[in-house]
Amino acid sequence: MIRMLVLEDDGAAAESSCRTLSQAGVACSFERAESEAEFRQGLQHSPDIILSDSSVPGFDGLAALAIARTECPRTPFIFVTGNSDPAAGEVARERGAAGFVAKANLGRLAGVVRSALDERTELVQESRSDRRKTETDAEASSTATYLIERQGILDRALQHEDQSALSNVLRRHPPVPIALLVLGHEEIRERFVKWLLNANIEVEPLTSATEALASLEARTYALLFTDQLNLVQAMRQLHTGSATHVVYVDVDGTVGTREALRRGANDCMPPEAGGEEFWGHLTTARRIASLSAALQLALTDNRILSTIDELTRCGSRRFFEHEFPREVERAMRLRRPLSLLMCDIDHFKAVNDSHGHEVGDQVLREFAARLTHGLRLGEDWVARIGGEEFAVVLPEVTIPKALLVARRLCERIGLTPCDTTAGPLRITGSFGISGFAPHRGDEHVSPRILIRAADAALYESKRAGRNRVSVA
Ligand code: GH3
Ligand code: MG
Ligand code: MG
Repeated sequence: MIRMLVLEDDGAAAESSCRTLSQAGVACSFERAESEAEFRQGLQHSPDIILSDSSVPGFDGLAALAIARTECPRTPFIFVTGNSDPAAGEVARERGAAGFVAKANLGRLAGVVRSALDERTELVQESRSDRRKTETDAEASSTATYLIERQGILDRALQHEDQSALSNVLRRHPPVPIALLVLGHEEIRERFVKWLLNANIEVEPLTSATEALASLEARTYALLFTDQLNLVQAMRQLHTGSATHVVYVDVDGTVGTREALRRGANDCMPPEAGGEEFWGHLTTARRIASLSAALQLALTDNRILSTIDELTRCGSRRFFEHEFPREVERAMRLRRPLSLLMCDIDHFKAVNDSHGHEVGDQVLREFAARLTHGLRLGEDWVARIGGEEFAVVLPEVTIPKALLVARRLCERIGLTPCDTTAGPLRITGSFGISGFAPHRGDEHVSPRILIRAADAALYESKRAGRNRVSVA
């Protein structure tokens, strides 16, 4: 039985996908998400597969894809949408979707799901057999693969180097804005619905402020048109209400712009504002709505990019701070060993001083590459945690083995000079090792203690003359 997370605002459509799969022999159950918050929560339950509509109110499918790629990079993500535009399918696949199925052609879904799951099984088996090579049988450390994924995303982002980050984001078709319409007067309400639909804005008309507040709390709306000042004031107190562009419709002309703005509206318009005036109000509102959608995507991008150090392509300090405690927790829970190497380039300041910063950067890149290439791909990982200081995390590795690894790395770094634009430069590095070894009775080792111990050992290597390895 496969467990699916389905991002879909239409319950019947989600049921229909599940039924289609079951009828084709793919037994499944599903959890449905209708908002970003629910989607993120669903990811916590480790679904086997993700199905997604092109968008749900306030949340775009491509944004969901970006989140899924970050949070659950191995879970196949398949679009099941009303949109049968081949260009949309291409964009989705470029961003890492495993498939794109039109709702009108749901018969294809089972095939697409099967092959996505097969592919994933192959990936898992590959990484299992790799692990067997390293003679360990414990739970896989996914951090290293996760880092490799993110490096890939960074590489793809940098292919568009000529574009500014923002224009890059803006090109990504922000979602169709959704407007909540809370107007008491039926005739005015119907007129607004018609105008908004003409402007390609989805509309959700409501009459009661209580209902509206519940909706506003449950999801983010790009726009709110209302003739109720109390609603404006109340929705501004909501966490989700802060991003919504609010237009107060001054039905009998007694409130006025000043009062409407004071109560939290962004704009005030008369109910009969037809034609150009309405479009004027709407253009501002639309611009703000798509900007906020674009910013949401930019934030997701930024989270991915901030995990990688741009100069060396290692994990960033931030990544290390986030992931290392997880590695320690995993090792303790499974009672498996874990080692940490801290290393620092020797006399690096002299490289900068004699040859300039640019050459210093080349050395840094080469140093990081030598570290990374000396490790097990997809198992060990490296982060740049200071100017010329790196942390190497070795899951499943005991301290005596880590000592061998560090000696090999140290040798490898000092052995051949680095090629730089200032000619070949010989560099060396100093190493400090600490580790967690359950059989030794290490029960309550904290990440901080491991880091401090490795740092102290590194300091010892420096003190003893550099270009060497010390164990805490
Ligand atoms: P030690 O052997 O004791 O480690 O000496 P060191 O000179 O390597 O150490 P120190 O901490 O004195 O100097 C580190 C230098 O690294 C100083 C700083 O200018 C340089 N640095 C830090 N980040 C970067 C960077 O991104 N690029 C370049 N080119 N240099 C950097
Ligand atoms: Mg140094
Ligand atoms: Mg240093």
